[in-house]
Amino acid sequence: MSIWRMMALAASAEPIRASLPLNVDCSLPCPCCIILGACVDLMKHKITLIPGDGIGPEVTGAAISVLRAAGFQAEWDSFVVGAEALTKYGDPLPRDLIDSIRRNKVALKGPVITPVGTGFVSSNVRLRKELDLFANLRPVKSLAGVKSRYENVDLIVVRENTEDLYSGLEHEVVPGVVESLKIITDRASRRIARFACEHARQEGRKKITAIHKANIMKMSDGLFLRCFREVASEYPEIEANDLIVDNACMQLVIDPTQFDVLLLENLYGDIVSDLGAGLIGGLGVAPGANIGEELAVFEAVHGAAPSIAGRGIANPTAMIQTAVLMLKHLGERDIALKVQSALERQLVSGKVLTRDLGGQATTSEFTNAVISSLT
Ligand code: NAD
Repeated sequence: MSIWRMMALAASAEPIRASLPLNVDCSLPCPCCIILGACVDLMKHKITLIPGDGIGPEVTGAAISVLRAAGFQAEWDSFVVGAEALTKYGDPLPRDLIDSIRRNKVALKGPVITPVGTGFVSSNVRLRKELDLFANLRPVKSLAGVKSRYENVDLIVVRENTEDLYSGLEHEVVPGVVESLKIITDRASRRIARFACEHARQEGRKKITAIHKANIMKMSDGLFLRCFREVASEYPEIEANDLIVDNACMQLVIDPTQFDVLLLENLYGDIVSDLGAGLIGGLGVAPGANIGEELAVFEAVHGAAPSIAGRGIANPTAMIQTAVLMLKHLGERDIALKVQSALERQLVSGKVLTRDLGGQATTSEFTNAVISSLT
Protein backbone atom coordinates (compact mmCIF):
# COMPACT_ATOMS: atom_id res chain seq x y z
CA MET A 1 0.00 0.00 0.00
CA SER A 2 1.41 3.40 -0.93
CA ILE A 3 2.08 6.09 1.65
CA TRP A 4 -0.52 8.29 -0.10
CA ARG A 5 -3.18 5.63 0.26
CA MET A 6 -2.16 5.26 3.92
CA MET A 7 -2.52 9.01 4.46
CA ALA A 8 -5.88 9.09 2.70
CA LEU A 9 -7.10 6.23 4.86
CA ALA A 10 -5.76 7.86 8.01
CA ALA A 11 -7.79 10.95 7.20
CA SER A 12 -10.97 8.97 6.52
CA ALA A 13 -13.46 7.93 9.18
CA GLU A 14 -13.05 4.24 8.28
CA PRO A 15 -10.79 2.31 10.69
CA ILE A 16 -7.50 1.83 8.85
CA ARG A 17 -6.85 -1.57 10.33
CA ALA A 18 -9.86 -2.98 8.52
CA SER A 19 -8.27 -1.94 5.23
CA LEU A 20 -5.00 -3.69 5.92
CA PRO A 21 -4.56 -7.34 5.07
CA LEU A 22 -4.81 -9.54 8.15
CA ASN A 23 -1.57 -10.60 9.79
CA VAL A 24 0.17 -7.37 8.77
CA ASP A 25 2.98 -6.68 11.20
CA CYS A 26 2.75 -2.97 11.95
CA SER A 27 5.07 -3.07 14.95
CA LEU A 28 8.02 -1.53 13.13
CA PRO A 29 8.39 2.21 12.48
CA CYS A 30 7.06 2.65 8.98
CA PRO A 31 6.59 5.79 6.84
CA CYS A 32 3.03 6.24 8.03
CA CYS A 33 4.11 6.24 11.68
CA ILE A 34 6.93 8.69 11.07
CA ILE A 35 5.02 11.10 8.86
CA LEU A 36 1.60 10.87 10.46
CA GLY A 37 2.54 9.84 13.95
CA ALA A 38 -0.38 7.49 13.37
CA CYS A 39 1.09 4.26 14.71
CA VAL A 40 -1.24 4.12 17.69
CA ASP A 41 -4.29 4.37 15.45
CA LEU A 42 -2.92 1.84 13.00
CA MET A 43 -2.23 -0.58 15.83
CA LYS A 44 -5.66 -0.31 17.34
CA HIS A 45 -7.87 -3.34 16.86
CA LYS A 46 -11.63 -3.11 16.68
CA ILE A 47 -13.18 -6.42 17.63
CA THR A 48 -16.80 -7.49 17.87
CA LEU A 49 -17.52 -9.12 21.20
CA ILE A 50 -20.35 -11.57 21.87
CA PRO A 51 -20.25 -12.43 25.57
CA GLY A 52 -23.04 -14.96 24.94
CA ASP A 53 -25.06 -16.50 27.75
CA GLY A 54 -24.64 -19.16 30.45
CA ILE A 55 -20.95 -19.13 31.38
CA GLY A 56 -20.16 -17.02 28.28
CA PRO A 57 -19.87 -13.61 29.99
CA GLU A 58 -17.71 -15.13 32.77
CA VAL A 59 -15.18 -16.77 30.45
CA THR A 60 -15.05 -14.01 27.82
CA GLY A 61 -14.61 -11.47 30.64
CA ALA A 62 -11.73 -13.55 32.01
CA ALA A 63 -10.05 -13.83 28.59
CA ILE A 64 -10.31 -10.08 27.98
CA SER A 65 -8.80 -9.32 31.42
CA VAL A 66 -5.81 -11.52 30.56
CA LEU A 67 -5.40 -9.92 27.11
CA ARG A 68 -5.50 -6.43 28.63
CA ALA A 69 -2.97 -7.35 31.29
CA ALA A 70 -0.71 -8.72 28.56
CA GLY A 71 -0.78 -5.35 26.79
CA PHE A 72 -3.32 -6.04 24.05
CA GLN A 73 -5.21 -2.90 23.11
CA ALA A 74 -8.55 -3.12 21.39
CA GLU A 75 -11.89 -1.43 21.14
CA TRP A 76 -14.63 -3.98 21.78
CA ASP A 77 -18.10 -3.67 20.18
CA SER A 78 -20.29 -5.78 22.44
CA PHE A 79 -23.60 -7.41 21.38
CA VAL A 80 -26.19 -9.67 22.95
CA VAL A 81 -27.48 -12.68 21.02
CA GLY A 82 -29.87 -15.57 21.69
CA ALA A 83 -32.86 -15.30 24.02
CA GLU A 84 -31.91 -11.85 25.33
CA ALA A 85 -31.60 -10.44 21.82
CA LEU A 86 -34.91 -12.05 20.84
CA THR A 87 -36.64 -10.26 23.74
CA LYS A 88 -34.90 -6.93 23.13
CA TYR A 89 -34.75 -6.76 19.34
CA GLY A 90 -37.13 -9.46 18.08
CA ASP A 91 -34.25 -11.47 16.56
CA PRO A 92 -31.77 -13.77 18.39
CA LEU A 93 -29.13 -12.70 15.85
CA PRO A 94 -29.48 -8.92 15.44
CA ARG A 95 -28.53 -7.31 12.13
CA ASP A 96 -26.28 -4.76 13.91
CA LEU A 97 -24.12 -7.60 15.19
CA ILE A 98 -23.69 -9.06 11.70
CA ASP A 99 -22.82 -5.60 10.36
CA SER A 100 -20.28 -5.09 13.16
CA ILE A 101 -18.48 -8.36 12.34
CA ARG A 102 -18.47 -7.51 8.64
CA ARG A 103 -16.90 -4.15 9.52
CA ASN A 104 -14.39 -5.34 12.11
CA LYS A 105 -13.60 -8.66 10.37
CA VAL A 106 -12.90 -10.35 13.70
CA ALA A 107 -15.10 -11.36 16.65
CA LEU A 108 -14.58 -13.07 19.99
CA LYS A 109 -17.64 -15.07 20.94
CA GLY A 110 -18.90 -16.79 24.07
CA PRO A 111 -21.34 -19.70 23.84
CA VAL A 112 -25.05 -19.13 23.28
CA ILE A 113 -27.89 -21.29 24.56
CA THR A 114 -30.14 -22.89 21.93
CA PRO A 115 -33.54 -24.24 23.01
CA VAL A 116 -33.67 -28.03 22.67
CA GLY A 117 -36.33 -29.62 20.43
CA THR A 118 -38.27 -26.38 19.97
CA GLY A 119 -37.85 -22.57 19.79
CA PHE A 120 -35.58 -20.42 17.66
CA VAL A 121 -32.94 -21.67 15.24
CA SER A 122 -29.41 -21.83 16.72
CA SER A 123 -27.80 -18.38 16.57
CA ASN A 124 -24.42 -20.13 16.36
CA VAL A 125 -25.35 -22.03 13.21
CA ARG A 126 -27.03 -18.94 11.72
CA LEU A 127 -23.98 -16.79 12.41
CA ARG A 128 -21.61 -19.25 10.74
CA LYS A 129 -23.85 -19.57 7.69
CA GLU A 130 -24.72 -15.89 7.38
CA LEU A 131 -21.04 -14.87 7.45
CA ASP A 132 -19.95 -17.91 5.44
CA LEU A 133 -17.50 -18.96 8.16
CA PHE A 134 -16.99 -22.24 6.37
CA ALA A 135 -14.10 -23.68 8.39
CA ASN A 136 -14.28 -24.62 12.03
CA LEU A 137 -10.75 -25.07 13.29
CA ARG A 138 -10.29 -26.83 16.59
CA PRO A 139 -6.78 -27.67 17.79
CA VAL A 140 -6.72 -30.56 20.27
CA LYS A 141 -3.44 -30.36 22.14
CA SER A 142 -2.41 -31.79 25.52
CA LEU A 143 -1.57 -29.09 28.03
CA ALA A 144 1.13 -29.65 30.61
CA GLY A 145 -0.44 -29.46 34.04
CA VAL A 146 -3.86 -30.66 32.83
CA LYS A 147 -4.43 -34.27 33.84
CA SER A 148 -6.08 -36.49 31.25
CA ARG A 149 -5.94 -40.11 30.13
CA TYR A 150 -3.51 -39.30 27.32
CA GLU A 151 -0.24 -37.49 26.82
CA ASN A 152 1.20 -35.81 23.74
CA VAL A 153 -2.09 -35.43 21.91
CA ASP A 154 -1.61 -32.87 19.16
CA LEU A 155 -4.19 -33.00 16.43
CA ILE A 156 -6.37 -30.51 14.59
CA VAL A 157 -10.05 -30.95 13.87
CA VAL A 158 -11.17 -29.21 10.67
CA ARG A 159 -14.95 -29.23 10.47
CA GLU A 160 -17.09 -28.04 7.55
CA ASN A 161 -19.31 -25.38 9.07
CA THR A 162 -22.08 -24.44 6.65
CA GLU A 163 -24.01 -27.47 5.45
CA ASP A 164 -24.71 -31.17 6.15
CA LEU A 165 -27.56 -31.91 8.58
CA TYR A 166 -27.04 -28.42 10.05
CA SER A 167 -28.70 -26.90 7.01
CA GLY A 168 -31.82 -26.73 9.18
CA LEU A 169 -34.02 -28.16 6.43
CA GLU A 170 -36.54 -30.24 8.33
CA HIS A 171 -40.22 -30.90 7.72
CA GLU A 172 -43.03 -33.21 8.65
CA VAL A 173 -43.86 -35.48 5.73
CA VAL A 174 -47.04 -36.84 7.33
CA PRO A 175 -47.94 -36.82 11.04
CA GLY A 176 -45.40 -38.98 12.87
CA VAL A 177 -42.83 -38.86 10.06
CA VAL A 178 -40.23 -36.08 9.80
CA GLU A 179 -37.40 -35.57 7.37
CA SER A 180 -34.06 -33.75 7.88
CA LEU A 181 -32.10 -33.02 4.74
CA LYS A 182 -28.39 -33.67 4.67
CA ILE A 183 -26.88 -31.26 2.15
CA ILE A 184 -23.37 -31.94 0.86
CA THR A 185 -22.11 -29.94 -2.09
CA ASP A 186 -19.10 -30.29 -4.32
CA ARG A 187 -18.23 -26.60 -3.76
CA ALA A 188 -18.28 -26.69 0.06
CA SER A 189 -16.52 -30.07 0.19
CA ARG A 190 -13.68 -28.89 -2.05
CA ARG A 191 -13.40 -25.60 -0.19
CA ILE A 192 -13.03 -27.24 3.23
CA ALA A 193 -10.65 -29.89 1.83
CA ARG A 194 -8.46 -27.14 0.38
CA PHE A 195 -8.60 -25.23 3.67
CA ALA A 196 -7.46 -28.37 5.54
CA CYS A 197 -4.62 -28.96 3.08
CA GLU A 198 -3.47 -25.34 3.14
CA HIS A 199 -3.65 -25.24 6.93
CA ALA A 200 -1.74 -28.53 7.19
CA ARG A 201 0.94 -27.18 4.85
CA GLN A 202 1.19 -23.90 6.76
CA GLU A 203 1.51 -25.69 10.10
CA GLY A 204 3.95 -28.31 8.80
CA ARG A 205 1.50 -31.14 9.40
CA LYS A 206 2.15 -34.45 7.71
CA LYS A 207 -1.19 -36.27 7.41
CA ILE A 208 -4.89 -35.53 6.89
CA THR A 209 -7.53 -38.13 7.69
CA ALA A 210 -10.97 -37.55 6.17
CA ILE A 211 -13.71 -39.02 8.36
CA HIS A 212 -16.99 -40.15 6.80
CA LYS A 213 -19.71 -42.76 6.53
CA ALA A 214 -19.46 -43.23 2.77
CA ASN A 215 -20.12 -46.95 3.08
CA ILE A 216 -23.73 -46.09 3.99
CA MET A 217 -24.25 -42.55 2.65
CA LYS A 218 -22.64 -43.37 -0.65
CA MET A 219 -23.80 -40.21 -2.42
CA SER A 220 -23.39 -37.47 0.22
CA ASP A 221 -20.38 -38.72 2.16
CA GLY A 222 -19.13 -40.29 -1.07
CA LEU A 223 -19.02 -36.81 -2.64
CA PHE A 224 -17.26 -35.32 0.40
CA LEU A 225 -14.63 -38.06 0.27
CA ARG A 226 -14.12 -37.83 -3.49
CA CYS A 227 -13.61 -34.06 -3.27
CA PHE A 228 -11.08 -34.55 -0.46
CA ARG A 229 -9.12 -37.14 -2.46
CA GLU A 230 -8.99 -34.92 -5.53
CA VAL A 231 -7.91 -31.81 -3.64
CA ALA A 232 -5.41 -33.73 -1.49
CA SER A 233 -3.73 -35.13 -4.63
CA GLU A 234 -2.47 -31.58 -5.24
CA TYR A 235 -0.52 -31.74 -1.95
CA PRO A 236 1.85 -34.68 -2.45
CA GLU A 237 3.87 -33.83 0.67
CA ILE A 238 0.82 -34.50 2.87
CA GLU A 239 -0.32 -38.07 3.42
CA ALA A 240 -4.07 -38.37 2.79
CA ASN A 241 -6.14 -41.22 4.16
CA ASP A 242 -9.69 -41.77 5.40
CA LEU A 243 -11.62 -43.63 8.07
CA ILE A 244 -15.25 -44.50 8.68
CA VAL A 245 -16.53 -42.34 11.53
CA ASP A 246 -17.35 -45.11 14.01
CA ASN A 247 -13.93 -46.69 13.58
CA ALA A 248 -12.34 -43.23 13.80
CA CYS A 249 -13.95 -42.65 17.22
CA MET A 250 -12.65 -45.99 18.48
CA GLN A 251 -9.16 -45.28 17.10
CA LEU A 252 -9.16 -41.84 18.72
CA VAL A 253 -9.92 -43.34 22.10
CA ILE A 254 -7.34 -46.13 21.72
CA ASP A 255 -4.48 -43.92 20.52
CA PRO A 256 -5.11 -40.28 19.62
CA THR A 257 -1.42 -39.70 18.92
CA GLN A 258 -1.75 -41.60 15.61
CA PHE A 259 -3.71 -38.64 14.17
CA ASP A 260 -2.53 -35.33 12.80
CA VAL A 261 -5.29 -33.36 10.99
CA LEU A 262 -8.87 -34.65 10.88
CA LEU A 263 -11.27 -33.43 8.20
CA LEU A 264 -14.97 -33.87 8.85
CA GLU A 265 -18.42 -32.81 7.74
CA ASN A 266 -20.42 -30.60 10.08
CA LEU A 267 -22.17 -33.15 12.33
CA TYR A 268 -19.29 -35.62 12.66
CA GLY A 269 -16.99 -32.64 13.26
CA ASP A 270 -19.18 -31.37 16.08
CA ILE A 271 -19.25 -34.75 17.80
CA VAL A 272 -15.57 -35.55 17.28
CA SER A 273 -14.61 -32.08 18.59
CA ASP A 274 -16.14 -32.85 21.98
CA LEU A 275 -14.53 -36.30 21.90
CA GLY A 276 -11.23 -34.53 21.19
CA ALA A 277 -11.78 -32.18 24.13
CA GLY A 278 -12.28 -35.25 26.32
CA LEU A 279 -8.87 -36.54 25.28
CA ILE A 280 -7.06 -33.48 26.64
CA GLY A 281 -8.89 -32.74 29.88
CA GLY A 282 -12.38 -31.66 28.87
CA LEU A 283 -14.35 -28.84 27.34
CA GLY A 284 -12.89 -26.36 29.80
CA VAL A 285 -9.60 -26.34 27.86
CA ALA A 286 -10.54 -26.78 24.16
CA PRO A 287 -10.25 -23.68 21.91
CA GLY A 288 -11.70 -23.03 18.45
CA ALA A 289 -12.19 -20.64 15.55
CA ASN A 290 -14.67 -20.17 12.72
CA ILE A 291 -12.86 -18.93 9.64
CA GLY A 292 -14.21 -17.52 6.37
CA GLU A 293 -12.56 -15.95 3.34
CA GLU A 294 -12.32 -12.58 5.10
CA LEU A 295 -14.00 -12.87 8.49
CA ALA A 296 -13.20 -14.88 11.59
CA VAL A 297 -15.20 -15.54 14.74
CA PHE A 298 -13.25 -17.09 17.60
CA GLU A 299 -15.18 -19.30 20.01
CA ALA A 300 -14.29 -22.18 22.29
CA VAL A 301 -15.67 -25.67 21.66
CA HIS A 302 -17.76 -25.67 24.82
CA GLY A 303 -21.34 -24.56 25.20
CA ALA A 304 -23.04 -22.34 27.75
CA ALA A 305 -22.84 -24.94 30.57
CA PRO A 306 -26.10 -23.76 32.21
CA SER A 307 -25.62 -25.97 35.28
CA ILE A 308 -22.52 -24.01 36.39
CA ALA A 309 -23.46 -20.60 34.93
CA GLY A 310 -23.38 -17.64 37.31
CA ARG A 311 -21.50 -19.57 39.98
CA GLY A 312 -18.08 -18.21 39.06
CA ILE A 313 -16.54 -21.66 38.70
CA ALA A 314 -16.21 -22.09 34.92
CA ASN A 315 -12.77 -22.78 33.54
CA PRO A 316 -11.69 -19.87 31.28
CA THR A 317 -8.72 -21.82 29.79
CA ALA A 318 -10.61 -22.71 26.58
CA MET A 319 -11.60 -19.09 26.05
CA ILE A 320 -8.11 -17.78 26.87
CA GLN A 321 -6.64 -20.21 24.33
CA THR A 322 -9.34 -19.16 21.85
CA ALA A 323 -8.23 -15.55 22.38
CA VAL A 324 -4.64 -16.67 21.70
CA LEU A 325 -5.80 -18.04 18.32
CA MET A 326 -7.41 -14.65 17.68
CA LEU A 327 -4.22 -12.78 18.60
CA LYS A 328 -2.24 -14.91 16.13
CA HIS A 329 -4.83 -14.22 13.44
CA LEU A 330 -4.46 -10.49 14.13
CA GLY A 331 -0.69 -10.74 13.79
CA GLU A 332 -0.13 -10.16 17.53
CA ARG A 333 2.24 -13.12 17.86
CA ASP A 334 4.29 -11.73 20.76
CA ILE A 335 1.25 -11.11 22.94
CA ALA A 336 -0.18 -14.48 21.91
CA LEU A 337 2.99 -16.22 23.05
CA LYS A 338 3.08 -14.22 26.27
CA VAL A 339 -0.51 -15.18 27.15
CA GLN A 340 -0.10 -18.85 26.20
CA SER A 341 3.12 -19.15 28.21
CA ALA A 342 1.54 -17.52 31.27
CA LEU A 343 -1.45 -19.85 31.01
CA GLU A 344 0.78 -22.93 30.75
CA ARG A 345 3.03 -21.79 33.62
CA GLN A 346 -0.02 -21.30 35.78
CA LEU A 347 -1.45 -24.74 34.88
CA VAL A 348 1.88 -26.47 35.47
CA SER A 349 2.23 -24.86 38.92
CA GLY A 350 -0.99 -26.75 39.76
CA LYS A 351 -1.75 -24.39 42.64
CA VAL A 352 -4.82 -22.61 41.31
CA LEU A 353 -7.05 -24.91 39.27
CA THR A 354 -10.77 -24.83 38.56
CA ARG A 355 -13.01 -27.70 39.64
CA ASP A 356 -13.14 -29.43 36.24
CA LEU A 357 -9.34 -29.78 36.52
CA GLY A 358 -9.48 -31.12 40.06
CA GLY A 359 -8.97 -27.84 41.95
CA GLN A 360 -11.20 -25.52 43.95
CA ALA A 361 -10.42 -22.16 42.37
CA THR A 362 -13.05 -19.79 41.03
CA THR A 363 -12.94 -18.34 37.53
CA SER A 364 -11.56 -15.04 38.83
CA GLU A 365 -8.94 -16.68 41.08
CA PHE A 366 -7.73 -18.70 38.09
CA THR A 367 -7.74 -15.61 35.86
CA ASN A 368 -5.78 -13.55 38.40
CA ALA A 369 -3.25 -16.36 38.73
CA VAL A 370 -2.74 -16.36 34.93
CA ILE A 371 -2.31 -12.58 35.03
CA SER A 372 0.27 -12.94 37.83
CA SER A 373 2.17 -15.42 35.65
CA LEU A 374 2.56 -12.92 32.81
CA THR A 375 6.14 -11.81 32.45
P1 NAD B 1 -21.69 -27.64 27.32
O1 NAD B 1 -20.43 -27.56 26.55
O2 NAD B 1 -22.32 -26.35 27.69
O3 NAD B 1 -21.45 -28.48 28.67
C1 NAD B 1 -21.03 -29.85 28.64
C2 NAD B 1 -20.32 -30.18 29.97
O4 NAD B 1 -19.06 -29.53 30.03
C3 NAD B 1 -21.10 -29.69 31.20
O5 NAD B 1 -20.87 -30.62 32.23
C4 NAD B 1 -20.42 -28.38 31.55
O6 NAD B 1 -20.54 -28.02 32.90
C5 NAD B 1 -18.96 -28.67 31.15
N1 NAD B 1 -18.27 -27.45 30.72
C6 NAD B 1 -18.39 -26.81 29.53
N2 NAD B 1 -17.61 -25.75 29.48
C7 NAD B 1 -16.96 -25.69 30.68
C8 NAD B 1 -16.00 -24.79 31.24
N3 NAD B 1 -15.54 -23.74 30.54
N4 NAD B 1 -15.56 -25.01 32.49
C9 NAD B 1 -16.01 -26.07 33.19
N5 NAD B 1 -16.90 -26.96 32.72
C10 NAD B 1 -17.37 -26.77 31.47
O7 NAD B 1 -22.69 -28.52 26.45
P2 NAD B 1 -24.26 -28.75 26.60
O8 NAD B 1 -24.60 -28.93 28.04
O9 NAD B 1 -24.54 -29.82 25.63
O10 NAD B 1 -24.94 -27.42 26.05
C11 NAD B 1 -25.43 -26.37 26.88
C12 NAD B 1 -25.97 -25.25 26.02
O11 NAD B 1 -24.92 -24.66 25.25
C13 NAD B 1 -27.02 -25.69 24.99
O12 NAD B 1 -28.04 -24.72 24.92
C14 NAD B 1 -26.27 -25.75 23.69
O13 NAD B 1 -27.11 -25.51 22.58
C15 NAD B 1 -25.29 -24.61 23.87
N6 NAD B 1 -24.06 -24.76 23.06
C16 NAD B 1 -23.58 -23.63 22.50
C17 NAD B 1 -22.42 -23.70 21.76
C18 NAD B 1 -21.90 -22.43 21.13
O14 NAD B 1 -22.38 -21.36 21.45
N7 NAD B 1 -20.92 -22.52 20.26
C19 NAD B 1 -21.72 -24.92 21.65
C20 NAD B 1 -22.23 -26.04 22.28
C21 NAD B 1 -23.39 -25.96 22.99
